Amino acid sequence: MKRPDMETDGVFEAFLGRVKDRLETGWLDLVHGGLYVAQGAPDHEGHYRDGVWRNWTDSYGVRPAAYHLPATEADLREIVAKAVKLRVVGGGHTFNDSPLSDDTIISLDDYDSVLRIDPDAGTIRVQAGIRLRDLNRVLRDHGLGLPVLGSTDAQSIAGLVATDLHGTGRDHGFLSEQILALRVIAHDGTVRDVRPGDPLFHAVIGGLGTCGVVAEVELQAVQAFNLEKSTRMMDRAATEDEVDAVLQANDHVSFYYIGGADEGESFRMHCWRHTDAAVTPDWEKIKTRAELADFAISAFLPGIAAALADMDEDAWLSDVLAPDQRLVLPGSHGFGRKLFYRHDEIEFGVPFPAWRACVAEILALLRARSFFSVVEVRFTPDASRALLGPGVGRRTAYIELATPMSQQTDAVYAEAEDILRAYGGQPHLGKKTTFTAGEMRETYGERYVTFARLRGEQDPGGKFLNAFTERVLGT
Ligand SMILES: Cc1cc2nc3c(=O)[nH]c(=O)nc-3n(C[C@H](O)[C@H](O)[C@H](O)COP(=O)(O)OP(=O)(O)OC[C@H]3O[C@@H](n4cnc5c(N)ncnc54)[C@H](O)[C@@H]3O)c2cc1C
Repeated sequence: MKRPDMETDGVFEAFLGRVKDRLETGWLDLVHGGLYVAQGAPDHEGHYRDGVWRNWTDSYGVRPAAYHLPATEADLREIVAKAVKLRVVGGGHTFNDSPLSDDTIISLDDYDSVLRIDPDAGTIRVQAGIRLRDLNRVLRDHGLGLPVLGSTDAQSIAGLVATDLHGTGRDHGFLSEQILALRVIAHDGTVRDVRPGDPLFHAVIGGLGTCGVVAEVELQAVQAFNLEKSTRMMDRAATEDEVDAVLQANDHVSFYYIGGADEGESFRMHCWRHTDAAVTPDWEKIKTRAELADFAISAFLPGIAAALADMDEDAWLSDVLAPDQRLVLPGSHGFGRKLFYRHDEIEFGVPFPAWRACVAEILALLRARSFFSVVEVRFTPDASRALLGPGVGRRTAYIELATPMSQQTDAVYAEAEDILRAYGGQPHLGKKTTFTAGEMRETYGERYVTFARLRGEQDPGGKFLNAFTERVLGT
């Protein structure tokens, strides 16, 4: 760390100027975020109230003719068979309108039991409505865990199957790697149990529920483990130069850039490694404090975030505002983080060799548009089990824009999507995208043809299609 007295004047003045600028333009984020925290984030998940179902950000809602909460498979099958049009909802954590139906909506919130667990074999079979946080708790109680997870745990297991949840990792990247079997209900209420190798299994993963309702999921867990997570501000150019070594030296890595910063010399890096060390005492409190500080900076005070990104990572102020952190956490809590603000997202998987140039173009776009957004980059091996999905068929870098809700995202997201597509990007269907079925066909070729055939067999009349799924996965 450099001595404060050597650089106080320049850094501090530039910092204050930047904060003032950004606060003037970003005050809405501040008010919005402050209110959200003050209210205790009451609706931080999809919810059905007064006849209307809404997603976690309240940006999508629908008044379905029928809303069902089945508790038995017989009921679930009957509802599916009788519905004219149908969508299933889980945690409502999708950033698009794929869960909506104005005819029939099914929630599996009452269809969320653990059916069987075998701690010796490490296998677990669950009803598909179970939330990830509950699944993690049961696994942990039995000395088990999942090797890689995403950045929150409020989703249902079926929602995660429907969008092929990815995390970040050198050896593992997807929840689908752990799935041993799925129980799927077709348009007429008939049921099939499918396993890896059965084409329907691979179509259901990442298929947004268009190949049937997922009723049960069986998973292969691993022994519970602890993770050492370190968080540091890094010099951007030097770290990007060394990316292969960084990815090789850690089990999991993610990069946090601040889009809209002037120079963007620095970024935040999270690294995770398996460890035999005991968890850090009070890790929950420390984690929550760090998350609050992190989000206060990146969501409510974008000026500070942008100033940090423009600062030398060794600057004393950077150390004060974004101190390095090292924590040992249970694996079940190592990846997820609590969100204290609502945001929007677009995310594409690009071929690994293209990631650096693509991120540079995205950051240049955000700078040119003075558009504040966190840009997260994660990495997966070629291990997805899905027929269609952002990480399918290649080693992948995910480039995600996570943008506070007060910003107008449409125009900039459209420009960002052009860049992501130009680098061979494949869209994450749980997030914003303008992709059409024709473009999916061009992108995935024979994979899409197979998918369309299987979808047609499971749902010849298009019962599971709504406006979004028709556009992206229709024929
Ligand atoms: C804060 C946050 C963090 C996130 N982090 C990640 C991440 O790290 N990695 C990642 O890949 N994604 C991430 N996502 C995206 C999220 O995981 C997906 O959008 C996921 O699908 C949401 O699951 P859900 O249970 O909330 O489903 P919903 O949003 O309710 O539904 C998602 C889709 O699944 C369908 N569906 C739900 N249940 C069924 C069922 N039983 N059968 C058939 N179809 C069904 C719905 O109709 C809909 O199309 C994140 C989202 C948020 C808001």
